[in-house]
Amino acid sequence: MSYLNLYRSGELRRRADELRKHIDRCSLCPWECGALRLEGERGKCGAGDRVEISGYGPHFGEEPPLVGRGGSGTIFFSFCSLRCVFCQNYETSRGRERYEVSTGELAEIMLELQKRGCVNINLVTPSHFVYQIIEALEAACGLGLQIPLVYNCSGYEKLDILRNLHGIVDIYLPDIKYADAEIAKKYSGIEDYPRVAKAALKEMHRQVGDLVLDRNGVAVRGLLIRHLVMPGGLAGTANLMEFIAREISPTSWINIMDQYYPTYLAYRYPEISRRISREEFKEAVAAAKSASPQFHLIIDCPRF
Ligand code: SF4
Repeated sequence: MSYLNLYRSGELRRRADELRKHIDRCSLCPWECGALRLEGERGKCGAGDRVEISGYGPHFGEEPPLVGRGGSGTIFFSFCSLRCVFCQNYETSRGRERYEVSTGELAEIMLELQKRGCVNINLVTPSHFVYQIIEALEAACGLGLQIPLVYNCSGYEKLDILRNLHGIVDIYLPDIKYADAEIAKKYSGIEDYPRVAKAALKEMHRQVGDLVLDRNGVAVRGLLIRHLVMPGGLAGTANLMEFIAREISPTSWINIMDQYYPTYLAYRYPEISRRISREEFKEAVAAAKSASPQFHLIIDCPRF
């Protein structure tokens, strides 16, 4: 794993120190809310100075290249910088389910997941705890961690923070949620999502390239993009697929997801208070294929 080279050279320590500078008046995510987290304040996302998670364990429901035989070693971090009214995971993202772990305990969790046979460490919504995660990673490296690191995020990421992760993250697993700023504002409380996420995905691809699998079909490096199809075409699927084909890579790996369902606060918005139809899903897949016939599409649609 490339993070092992950085660990041996001392660069991993330097990166952690660099990231620590962003947590004092917090500027780890594009909100740059300035929370004094090291003094006990919580940021706009809800995160404080201590890492809080809602759980961890081998996960067999992720994309097949991330699961292998032993499962994806998933760690669910509490809180999120987005405010999606339809959040499919709101108990974790809103911090209703959480318990504190020290960086030492986080390192032990990584090692436990490796010992249980997981094929990677899958950090779910890590952005607001990225400093502590790299500290934990450094400790885990010293104790024998050697499986790929997956950065599983919303796509709402800052470029300078991502650049600090170059050579540390093996697999980026971002969402690309919306093509339209007004729609992003309405359903996730963030107006600049399309611009920020598009730039972030370009940087991620610059660092790791297209997804690469080993001979067992398990991902070892690269970019795997997730796109949740929304009712009424609100995600702007065709526009986003064109963007990926044109500005990321025509051979990108993309998971076109059908599992939208109205939960959390979605009942307040009649237009998204339903699941997507078979026709809407087929249109989304057709848009992806039309944007680039060479895309590697993961189309796991048990409902259809
Ligand atoms: S990560 Fe959280 S605390 Fe830091 S800038 Fe973003 S919203 Fe604020």
